[in-house]
Amino acid sequence: MIRTRFAPSPTGYMHIGNLRTALYEYLIAKKAGGRFILRIEDTDQNRQVEGAVEMIYSTLQAAGLQHDEGPDIGGAYGPYIQSERKEIYLRLARELIQKGKAYYCFCGKERLEALTDDRGIGKYDRRCLPLTKERIQENLAQNMPYVIRQIIPEGETSFHDEVFGEITVPNGELDDQILIKSDGLPTYNFANVADDHLMGITHVIRGSEYLSSTPKYNLLYEAFGWPVPAYIHLPLILNANGEKLSKRKGDASFEDLTAMGFLPEAIVNYIALLGWSPAENREIFTLAELVDCFDTAGLSKSPSIFDIQKLTWMNGEYFKRMDPEAFYAMSLKALREAVRTPGVDLRAAAEMARTRVNFLHEIKTLFGFMDSLPAYDERLYEHKKMKTSLGNSLDNLQKALPVLESLEIWQGENIHAALMALIGELGVKNGQMLWPIRTALSGQPSSPCGAIELCALLGKGETLRRIRLGVDLLEKAR
Ligand code: GLU
Repeated sequence: MIRTRFAPSPTGYMHIGNLRTALYEYLIAKKAGGRFILRIEDTDQNRQVEGAVEMIYSTLQAAGLQHDEGPDIGGAYGPYIQSERKEIYLRLARELIQKGKAYYCFCGKERLEALTDDRGIGKYDRRCLPLTKERIQENLAQNMPYVIRQIIPEGETSFHDEVFGEITVPNGELDDQILIKSDGLPTYNFANVADDHLMGITHVIRGSEYLSSTPKYNLLYEAFGWPVPAYIHLPLILNANGEKLSKRKGDASFEDLTAMGFLPEAIVNYIALLGWSPAENREIFTLAELVDCFDTAGLSKSPSIFDIQKLTWMNGEYFKRMDPEAFYAMSLKALREAVRTPGVDLRAAAEMARTRVNFLHEIKTLFGFMDSLPAYDERLYEHKKMKTSLGNSLDNLQKALPVLESLEIWQGENIHAALMALIGELGVKNGQMLWPIRTALSGQPSSPCGAIELCALLGKGETLRRIRLGVDLLEKAR
């Protein structure tokens, strides 16, 4: 059974890279009928941020990435919060000491600092490795602060990554890594490996920034005699300036993006494609479709760019494909704010907006002409392709007025029939009648719908009023 995990550190910011990691972990598990686990990696107490864990839950939930085990829902391998597993790490580290693969180190800060250069680089010189059992007991009895270090064996460490291939590192480059810190808490690396093993994780999927630490992880698996999981390191995601995404540089988090009006489904769809190419040439996938189509063979090594324009386009595509009733329900608030004129058919307005906006907040601009007709220039009536001039626009508006006035049932079909009959009678082109009406009703060079729909939407009284205003404007211009 495939088991993957999302193991965020609660730092209060879920950037797009984190969410993509969670998404791929989810997809790989679900595709194989496996389980997706959430584990909170909070051993670095200095980085704790209030509310960060809640943000992780709410983001996963909004993105639809439901975990099968985790701190909030439990599971057979808990606790799933590292700060609640302190004893486990200590016990494991002592086990390694018993096996002769780790040792107590009592060296103080000053001594360690002397071993490193200005950049903090330097290896521990193993001064505490030969300490006798008696000496260690004495130190412990005196409550002397200590850390537990792993003995890095000689030789080299190789591992296979499904994206980056074979990687080999000479062990000589690695320090005797600390497993337990002087505060009794595990180091990040140790807790991460211990938990991946104890929680039965089969596939470790994470950002490529962890690639260089992986040999150290493997040496831990080896020291314990544990099987090494499959590794899938993911390429970086860069912002438009080619930099790594970060909050400090103002890159948007999932939360920011949803606040900007992006749909969670569109965000998830878009980030699935950041570093992965589907086998078929296609861009729109629901989460369930991603589960079906996802294949690690499509993962790329090269960084991808987070392109907000592309995401904007995708958001619009999601609206276009949305069920009309669902879009109506979702956009009603924005529609009510945009259109205050009573009697307007908001369901019809929603249907016009659905295929025309990338964001719900664009509805306000789209229907801006509804509540009050914008002041416009008479030259708007002149349209080359429609073959309209100021003169024939005036004529046709004047002819349309009594026809519309006499209509008893104000409905799209009737308006259409009446205007078409008039067009036939006058022997004018459709555009020569409809363009002037559209202009008179919207006062804009473009509108979310054609003349007849505009008439229906605005209602009889307002339609006639606006056409008369148009007639006045054109008469003055004559
Ligand atoms: N806690 C790490 C992070 O937040 C995850 C590392 C991993 O997935 O192994 O980036």
